[in-house]
Amino acid sequence: MPRTLPTTEDLRTRARAALDHVGVTLDDPAGDVLHARTPLTGENLFPVAATTPAAAEEALAAAHQAFLAWRSTPAPQRGELVRRLGELLREHQEDLADLVTIEAGKIRSEALGEVQEMIDICDFAVGLSRQLYGRTIASERPGHRLAETWHPLGVVGVISAFNFPCAVWSWNTAVALACGDTVVWKPSELTPLISLACARLLERAAEDVGAPDGVHRLLIGDRAVGERLVDDPRVALVSATGSTRMGREVGPRVAARFGRSLLELGGNNAAIVTPSADLDLAVRGIVFAAAGTAGQRCTTLRRLIAHRDIADTLVARLTAAYARLPVGDPFDEATLVGPLISSAALDRMQEAVARAQAEGGKVLAGGGRRLADVAPDAAYVEPVVVRVGAQTGVVREETFAPILYVLTYDTLEEAIALHNDVPQGLSSSIFTRDQAEAELFLSAEGSDCGIANVNIGTSGAEIGGAFGGEKETGGGRESGSDAWRAYMRSATNTVNYSGRLALAQNVNFL
Ligand code: NAD
Repeated sequence: MPRTLPTTEDLRTRARAALDHVGVTLDDPAGDVLHARTPLTGENLFPVAATTPAAAEEALAAAHQAFLAWRSTPAPQRGELVRRLGELLREHQEDLADLVTIEAGKIRSEALGEVQEMIDICDFAVGLSRQLYGRTIASERPGHRLAETWHPLGVVGVISAFNFPCAVWSWNTAVALACGDTVVWKPSELTPLISLACARLLERAAEDVGAPDGVHRLLIGDRAVGERLVDDPRVALVSATGSTRMGREVGPRVAARFGRSLLELGGNNAAIVTPSADLDLAVRGIVFAAAGTAGQRCTTLRRLIAHRDIADTLVARLTAAYARLPVGDPFDEATLVGPLISSAALDRMQEAVARAQAEGGKVLAGGGRRLADVAPDAAYVEPVVVRVGAQTGVVREETFAPILYVLTYDTLEEAIALHNDVPQGLSSSIFTRDQAEAELFLSAEGSDCGIANVNIGTSGAEIGGAFGGEKETGGGRESGSDAWRAYMRSATNTVNYSGRLALAQNVNFL
């Protein structure tokens, strides 16, 4: 097991080098600051200037002004900006991954994977810039053409969470820019450095292709800065990713001004394991989904619903795998589980485990704190498996930490009912070799989530599909498929080329 950690000074040097490579210079900030911090040691890295109210107003005005030109730029030309951004992201994949690890604590392969997702969505959006199709519809009147046209929407406000500090920005930004929108981004206050790096690369891309300067703006700060996006009528769409608590505040405020919102909120994802499942495959899929990213993905597997006949065998294999999980320095190639984002997150995890025990659950593996002697301000913890007799209160909540609750079932109908009986509806999976079971799970009577998988865990989506979930997860869809439509407005056009005025539904008038 790794026993050492980089020092905060090592991490400062590495972060400064990555920022320098992408072209960000950190000046000594005057006025309001927030502190970039690393969960690897739990210590502060650098003070970063927070966006003042006047600068936020300037950013919104610039983004709005730029939209007026950008909306009329042909979409394939808009795609050129995204293509250039993708090239710069490729060039700086290692630098950006360093910043993701330093600020969000992701292990190396997951940090590189997050940057890869940004590159992939840029490729997708470049293609999309030539495919913003509308339909032609059969008109009921002779000599008439009925068609649907898609137009750019306006300024898109992107609010993002700490755990995908740059991929979520890119899903929104690459697609929004191709769609003719401009973007103002309010990243998590926990990840300012990676945000500065991404914003600088997009600024460079805009310079390289001659796009208007205001196509993108970055606002650094806490939720009060995010609230400016929520309340400003110039922001046509607020795309907000974070906790259900945040969505509950943001959604109604945007709706009150008749703005649009796209909400990507918390999940409480489950996997059903049936008696026919390939247990080797299931164990690997479950451990990655439940313990990977230290349980800090919105799609993390939090509930395992195992058939009674295989539950004991499965749990024994899982606990054996958990006992071998290397927890520690995420820069160490051997590590699979990095730190939690903060000691507050560790407190919430420990409270949830204590509640689960009070509600009748039994801890089968994990829970011990690691590296507290080396880094008392960091939060390294062994992922936990808790066997529970019923889906009690704590099991129905999202605790953003690596806790896997194990439930058992007798019939698949009962398993699906348990699966769906939580307020959230993001991701789900079934492990089975029985096609009828898989099809039932994917049917209208099956999983009620936005993502439903077979023989693969709940996390690790590809950008080609639309991403998002139902119920308290917020209902938004981002990334691939036709999620782009949320970033545009449609107009229905009726063109009369008949030379006669024919009213619909045979109405006579004059
Ligand atoms: P959070 O809700 O604390 O913060 C998310 C963002 O919202 C931050 O930028 C924060 O400053 C901002 N914010 C908070 N309250 C706000 C308000 N009232 N008005 C405007 N902005 C506000 O979430 P977090 O701890 O950073 O991230 C973890 C949560 O995000 C988990 O619940 C996770 O499931 C969820 N998440 C969901 C998805 C998804 O796609 N569904 C993806 C990633 C994370």
